[in-house]
Formats: sequence, C-alpha cells, structure tokens
Amino acid sequence: MNLVLLQAADLSGDPSERIATLHGRRAKHVREVLRAVPGDTLAVGLEGDRIGRGVVVSVAPHEVVLSVRFTVPPPVPPGIDLLLALPRPKVLRRLLAAATSLGVKRIVLLNGARVEKSYFDSPLLDPAAMREDLLLGLEQARDTVVPELLVRKRFRPFVEDELASLWPAPTRRLLAHPTSTKPLEACDAGSLPVKCVVAIGPEGGWVPFETALLEQHGFEGFSLGERILRVDTAVPVIVAQLELARRLSGRGSPSPAPG
Ligand code: SAM
Repeated sequence: MNLVLLQAADLSGDPSERIATLHGRRAKHVREVLRAVPGDTLAVGLEGDRIGRGVVVSVAPHEVVLSVRFTVPPPVPPGIDLLLALPRPKVLRRLLAAATSLGVKRIVLLNGARVEKSYFDSPLLDPAAMREDLLLGLEQARDTVVPELLVRKRFRPFVEDELASLWPAPTRRLLAHPTSTKPLEACDAGSLPVKCVVAIGPEGGWVPFETALLEQHGFEGFSLGERILRVDTAVPVIVAQLELARRLSGRGSPSPAPG
C-alpha cells in the first residue's frame, strides 16, 4: 500500500484539517506493515478526489487515527480502456488490480465463444470482491479514481447496441490479435485527450465471427509480435506499450536535427 485510500465516511472535522479514522485492513496495514507511530507522515488520498499527506495521531489495536490534508490531483490516466474477454476468475482478480494500477479507468468484462461460461457464476465476480481489487490497484499506484467496471454476458448485443455509446468517436478502437499482420507501431493509437479502447481476447482467442464483428465496428487489429502471451501477461504489456505509443504520438514528429 503506497497510499492510504480514504472514503468520505472515514473523515470528520474541519475541511481544511480533517481527521481520518481507519479500521480493518487499512488500520492493520498501517500498524503491522508500515509500522507507523504517532508523528509519522503517510501518503493519503480521498476516493475520487485529491491526494495529500496524513500525520499519524494515534495507533491502537483496532483503530488508527490520522490528521489529513488533500492537496494535489491524482495522476492523469493514460486514457486507455479495456474490453476484456472474461478470464479465469483468479487471473481476473490479479488483472483488475494490475490494470487499475496502470491507470485504466473503464473495464468491460465480456463474454465470448471461448470464455468458460461457469466463470460468470464465480463468487470472485461479486461486485464487492472486484471493488476490493480495484482499490488495491489504486493504493499501489497512488491514485484515487476507481475505474468503472461493467460485466456483459452477451457479446453480439454489447458490440452492436452498447459499444458505440461507451466509446463514441473519436475514441480509437484497437484489437490485440496475435495473428494480425500489423504491428502496434503501425497503428494510430491516438493520444490524450482522444481515448483508446483495446479489446483483448480469452485464453483460446476470439473466434473469427467475433474478430469480424469487432472489425466491422471499427476495431483495428494489431500484433505485439510472434510470441503469444497469456492474458495476464498480455494486458500489462499492451497497456504499457499503448501508453508509450500514445505519449510519443502526442509529441508529434521529432524535428530534424540542426545542421
Ligand atoms: N491462440 C489464441 C489466439 O491466437 O488468439 C491466443 C490467445 S492469447 C492467450 C489471449 C489474448 O491475449 C489474445 O486474444 C490477444 O488479445 C492477447 N495477445 C496475446 N499475445 C498477443 C500478441 N502477440 N499480439 C497481440 N495480442 C496478443
């Protein structure tokens, strides 16, 4: 935990110098992992709001009290959303935290022909359980803005009826597909403030009908090269490479060297 993420309900006191009272997991972490003592300063953030510093006021067996100030905005997100074929629930838990720590702010978990249907009934897909993973990702990356997380069980109606409202033009739509002949660097991934959504398939890959429908809806296929990656490796690699591509494209073409 690199930031103690607070909710409004944790706070009391004057808006300029508030008191935060922690219980449960966060209090245990401050006490046992950070080994904080009164007077120590910790990074804090208010969910959906600014980040700042918290001074430890007291540490008791079941309660930690901080005096907190929120001063600066959270990090700017890279503007990359994920359309992710629902992976195995245990993989999903790790992926949610990892994608959140990379700054992804919308994740749609979608069904597909090669998605195991029983995954949708897993208790790990309980919204409260998934929210915990998102919060872990935020605490890791010192961010406060919880990603929007949607679960959609019907591929075709989602793509045909809902996708356009979630990602209207000029959002760039990309499809990570190992057999594509186009490398990522040949795609226009856009740059902030234009957003980008990338579709990532299940362990068995998308079936041809699914790739065709995504392509009909403006998804441009790209490959990361001949190595086929597992979904839990592919997601962070794809987000990181897209972020770099988008940052470079935001800078425009380098000017020619003088002389
Ligand atoms: N045999 C499957 C196929 O050919 O699509 C492999 C699927 S892979 C394990 C799962 C997902 O990760 C893919 O659908 C794709 O979205 C992404 N992925 C993995 N390796 C990739 C690569 N080299 N280039 C682009 N996407 C990749």
